[in-house]
Amino acid sequence: MIYHLNTYLYLPEKVEMLRYCEVSCPYCGETQTVAVDCSTEIQDYYEDCRICCRSMSMHVTCSYEGEVLDLSVRSEDEA
Ligand SMILES: [Zn+2]
Repeated sequence: MIYHLNTYLYLPEKVEMLRYCEVSCPYCGETQTVAVDCSTEIQDYYEDCRICCRSMSMHVTCSYEGEVLDLSVRSEDEA
């Protein structure tokens, strides 16, 4: 177990830096957890709401270390 953990930590790159964040859907207002890939510092993309299935416009800012600094969700019309 420890051996595998160390191997994982020393992988040079392409380690997925996923963080899980809670967002509220701008359409139905339901809160849900979304996975955010922090390997890119600033990104805009669409995520489908799991409850009403409409496209939420996501704007994410991550730090160099892979922490989520800012995450905003808008409806498509606002974006
Ligand atoms: Zn929704």
